[in-house]
Amino acid sequence: MAILSTLQPLHHPLFNKYNVQVQIKRDDIIHPIISGNKWRKLKYNLQHIKNTPEFNGVLSFGGSYSNHIHALAFACFEQKIPCVGIIRGEVKYANNFTLSWAKYWGMKLHFVDRKTYRRRHDSDYLAELQQQFPQYFIVPEGGSNKLAIAGVSEIITELIQQTQFDTLITPVGSGGTLAGLIAGDQLNNTTHKILGIAVLKNAEYLAHEIKCLLPRLAKTPNNWQLLTQFHRGGYAKFSPHDATRILEFSKITGVDFEPVYSGKMILAFLDLLAEGYFIDGERIVLLHTGGMQGLGGMIERGLLNTEDWPMPARVAKKDS
Ligand SMILES: *Cc1c(COP(=O)(O)O)cnc(C)c1O
Repeated sequence: MAILSTLQPLHHPLFNKYNVQVQIKRDDIIHPIISGNKWRKLKYNLQHIKNTPEFNGVLSFGGSYSNHIHALAFACFEQKIPCVGIIRGEVKYANNFTLSWAKYWGMKLHFVDRKTYRRRHDSDYLAELQQQFPQYFIVPEGGSNKLAIAGVSEIITELIQQTQFDTLITPVGSGGTLAGLIAGDQLNNTTHKILGIAVLKNAEYLAHEIKCLLPRLAKTPNNWQLLTQFHRGGYAKFSPHDATRILEFSKITGVDFEPVYSGKMILAFLDLLAEGYFIDGERIVLLHTGGMQGLGGMIERGLLNTEDWPMPARVAKKDS
């Protein structure tokens, strides 16, 4: 199988101090616009739409700064698939960094209030939407469904061609990516330790969702763990000190992160190191899931300093 993203060694004085070997899987640079893990999750979803005559579009869900919505909009633009985004929030958000691009790439945005958005997994609401958009394939929030698992599992298939490692660490939002990695390990008959860092508060419930996403096999895998204590106050919450630590880590390693997903994984990783969590000589791979477009919205809202953080690359507007 073709290898989609490079694996790169990381150097940091703390890695010498604790004697761990660290590499980073650069899914963040798979594609200049489509965020890394969203690319993996969309791959087979979009193929499914193209191969199923009764579908000619895709409908999905997200918040007003959603990496998934941004990625889906661009992927559909490229592949000429009509797409609809059910967005939590008010119409005025349509002009924000993330959604203005989604709109520009042709996604139709439908804004719903929080109460309606909460029904995004309910079968009656989904049936309503299906009736309203009969030929649209419905993909859950974050793109996390069974087809996504197949796409993400290919990260493991690539990694075992690229290196030998003991532990793989990923940030966790909905759990789709972590489930895909666990499935990839099963598929390849390998048993790496797979650690998920939950970025939201009270994420314990995700362990169940992750198990539901896994393919049914005779043996339940137990080589993974969801760590829920590193959310730093909740989704997209972080302190100025957290931000400084992420930026410092970027400076030392030469790899950029954002504070919602990949940066939170880095902070958790540094905390685990300091706790003595890893064994002597442990070979660790960090999965950089991407998400750098999110910085655009945070800078726009004044949550981050433009001088410190890499502004996501503005995409040259296409003439049409
Ligand atoms: C969506 C996202 C995640 C979370 O992935 P899940 O599969 O929902 O757990 C992690 N990192 C980035 C950059 C994301 O955009």
